[in-house]
Amino acid sequence: MSFSKREIYQHEHELMRNELQRFLQREAVPKLDAWEAQGHADRQIWNQLGEIGVMAAMVPERYNGGGADMRMAAVIYEEIGRCGVAGLGGIGVHDIVAYYLLNKGSDELKNQWLPRATSGETLFAVAMTEPAAGSDLRGIKTHAERDGDSYIVNGSKIFITNGIAADAVAVVCRTDPSAERGGLSLILVESNSAGFKRGRNLEKMGQKSQDTAELFFEDVRVPAGNLIGELHRGLNLLMAELPFERLLIGLTALGAAKGAYEETHNYVSDRKAFGQTLATFQNTRYKLAELRTEIEVGEAFVDRCVAAHMTGELTTEQASMCKLWLTEMQDKVVDTCVQLHGGYGYMWEYSIAKRYADSRVQRIYGGTSEIMKEVISRSLPLDS
Ligand SMILES: Cc1cc2nc3c(=O)[nH]c(=O)nc-3n(C[C@H](O)[C@H](O)[C@H](O)COP(=O)(O)OP(=O)(O)OC[C@H]3O[C@@H](n4cnc5c(N)ncnc54)[C@H](O)[C@@H]3O)c2cc1C
Repeated sequence: MSFSKREIYQHEHELMRNELQRFLQREAVPKLDAWEAQGHADRQIWNQLGEIGVMAAMVPERYNGGGADMRMAAVIYEEIGRCGVAGLGGIGVHDIVAYYLLNKGSDELKNQWLPRATSGETLFAVAMTEPAAGSDLRGIKTHAERDGDSYIVNGSKIFITNGIAADAVAVVCRTDPSAERGGLSLILVESNSAGFKRGRNLEKMGQKSQDTAELFFEDVRVPAGNLIGELHRGLNLLMAELPFERLLIGLTALGAAKGAYEETHNYVSDRKAFGQTLATFQNTRYKLAELRTEIEVGEAFVDRCVAAHMTGELTTEQASMCKLWLTEMQDKVVDTCVQLHGGYGYMWEYSIAKRYADSRVQRIYGGTSEIMKEVISRSLPLDS
């Protein structure tokens, strides 16, 4: 099903879109039930995605990357959202860590990790959240102390995407306990380090093919060279990457809304009631018209954000608007799609039921909708 032509994309981007769609329909969609049962995607899929240039695609060729531009990355995130296999969403956090390394890591870290990240040999996770620190990272207690050529990391993290499968985790640690604000650093911890333990794969409402875990650090010794960026300035590093991360979530939301719309369009064209297909009822047509309009409006804003990112002009406020609006839109779209499926829409064996459950967390992780509004409102010229 074709949507309107999008001016920002060129032939090469559309080729990638078509190739990736075919790949995902062949290699991922048929495995969704099995991956849900085991609670994570198969390891092999990350290598396959690496082979076709999808993992951390914007890493330059000198680190074995594809040197893709943001439009190519946008195609990737949108199509992964569109295919409806939640377990592949872990590519988002993987790529985020790869770009932390690319933008702020030492040459040694880049040479060591980026070629393996782009091939899919290494899978990354990012660990900020703790039981007492979610929206407000000031509550972070996990700490790292310098000891000779190492840091010793102690603490725990919760809700970590790729937590079960990750080979290395970018951990936000307190390194300056005396600092009122800041005092945090980002340290790459390899999952085979002594004292690193994974908790359970958390049972979630949706995204059942994606692993989300607790992580524990007990006197984990990490080489001092694994510090990403400057000591005590981890928060600045995280803030600098926020526009990209929020755009990424907006792109997956757009793709997921499109995927739900397409499935529903097909369903109502087949299913009959009162001697006619559901598609012929005025209510069905009007609902689809509303969804299509919402998706195309969202697409226009996302494309504007992608273009702004390419020229270095995407602000945190704009990216927050993108995350806020697109994830709320995704939720509205999938809810209407479930309704149009009737009782079948509530059955787990139907993809639309999974999409409904998968969608809900998009308004929570990566900064909640409320935090997005807080960020946007701070940029408004309001009298205090
Ligand atoms: C499936 C899943 C995957 C995740 N993956 C990762 C990951 O890979 N890495 C990672 O570090 N974290 C991850 N998270 C954590 C996620 O980012 C946090 O859950 C999220 O930031 C919210 O934090 P919290 O859960 O502590 O909620 P809280 O911060 O306790 O918020 C609770 C409620 O209060 C509201 N609230 C909080 N502060 C304000 C305010 N100032 N104004 C108005 N309202 C406010 C929130 O919007 C929310 O509605 C994941 C979470 C989930 C569920």
